[in-house]
Amino acid sequence: MDDDDAVVESLRIVGDRIAAVGRGRLGATSCTEVVDLDGRTVVPGLIDNHNHVVLLGLRPGHDTRLESAASIDDALELLEARTTELPAGEWITSIGGFDINQFVPPPDAPRFPTLEELDSVTPGHPVYLQQSFAGPSVTNTLGKRFFEGKGIEVGADGTIAGGFQTPNASTRALYELRLLQTLDDQKRGTLDAMRYAASLGVTTHLDQGGFPATGTNADGAAHFDRYRAYDALLALYEEGALINRIRLNFLHMETDAATPELAARLANVFPDFGGDLLKIVGIGEFTAGASPIIGEATDVWVNGTRRVAEAGWRNENHSLTPADFPVIIDGWERIHRELRAPGIGNLRWVVAHAPFITREYVDKLAALGGGVSVLGGWRYISGTAQQNGPPFRMLADSGIPLGMSSDGMQISPMNPWIGLYYVVTGKNARGELINAGQTLDRGAALELYTAANGWFLNEEDALGTLEPGKYADLAVLSADYFDSDAVSDEELKGLRSVLTIVGGEIVYRER
Ligand SMILES: [Zn+2]
Repeated sequence: MDDDDAVVESLRIVGDRIAAVGRGRLGATSCTEVVDLDGRTVVPGLIDNHNHVVLLGLRPGHDTRLESAASIDDALELLEARTTELPAGEWITSIGGFDINQFVPPPDAPRFPTLEELDSVTPGHPVYLQQSFAGPSVTNTLGKRFFEGKGIEVGADGTIAGGFQTPNASTRALYELRLLQTLDDQKRGTLDAMRYAASLGVTTHLDQGGFPATGTNADGAAHFDRYRAYDALLALYEEGALINRIRLNFLHMETDAATPELAARLANVFPDFGGDLLKIVGIGEFTAGASPIIGEATDVWVNGTRRVAEAGWRNENHSLTPADFPVIIDGWERIHRELRAPGIGNLRWVVAHAPFITREYVDKLAALGGGVSVLGGWRYISGTAQQNGPPFRMLADSGIPLGMSSDGMQISPMNPWIGLYYVVTGKNARGELINAGQTLDRGAALELYTAANGWFLNEEDALGTLEPGKYADLAVLSADYFDSDAVSDEELKGLRSVLTIVGGEIVYRER
């Protein structure tokens, strides 16, 4: 993934860095440990430039990712496998990151596993599976008993109502599960989240925070307590227990146009502060107020954005609809002009997701020194012919800094191979081609998840390629991603890591 797309057969690691790449033993001595990978393909550790790994760590119960399940049977198998690791009675959950679309091939209608199906594989554990931010959800017999005891309505087939209106039965169920949680549970969940990432070859995350929780049963999967949400992560950092690199954006969402919370953050926190494994990056994916969601620049958003610019912080803004770009990018341009040079020009401000960005706005953003973070997995699990994009090809051709993310864990899977499948094929989970004309080849797609993402962390000198002087972060793949004879397009979704190294330490090894 270097500038020359070099392919080498040996790599030497000293301490946490790559010392040499090339052929043969590369100066190995009798003290060197030699690992023969038997011809397997090694890629730089994948960097997810926009996800919610902190929220995943905070999930109540033992969250079991169903993102890679392609059928009801797959989902049941993953849940059954989880029971073998846990004492009876412990909650098994899966909250966000999947869509029932992926469980049932057309023409049958998408559905959850039923209560009976869940009971058949997890008789000794209460189970709770929740789609997206706020359901719908499903539970098994043990879970039904618990939830009904709390006055929550559960259907005979285990279904629990949900949807965007909250509180609903799913958010009430989530609330009850969160009440059971301790800090130790959150630390264990955070370790589980990092282990899951490492099992897929993801070694670095840029976390984009959560919505400010109200502490009531209206909070969904993407809400967290902004005063306590980082306790587990900081405790693990202190203990030297982090096995992924985690970079943090602080998500700000407030109603007061004077943005007192954001002002306090910018006055009292050092940008870029931290160490090799945990570091602060910027403000995002919301800056203050929800204005770009509703398609117009509100005072709170403009004031907050100006504060971030004046403080010289990096900023990242989420975008979904075509109406977002005039708000965000024209808004940034106005603030840039108001400030003294260099304005926001050196700050690497990023527009995220960008399913419907146009070339006009890409060029405007490039002129401001900005970049675009695109995602794939979300469109894979729930995209349609109308809800498609992002225009990967147009963006790559434009030359703007372009990197890739999962936007896991609520509406989208963290699994990067699902996202890469979507970039390469343009197909959703129902097998429909929805992004024709905007696909990229495998090499260009993987570059977005590795070399290109160094820029988004302001760490391109340390991350993203396997070159001397960079962190020794790598993944040994289960099969050769680059060989379309060995790995068909459909098989891309099943790729994983068999050995993952972060900073020269083995952090995951397939059993
Ligand atoms: Zn996000």
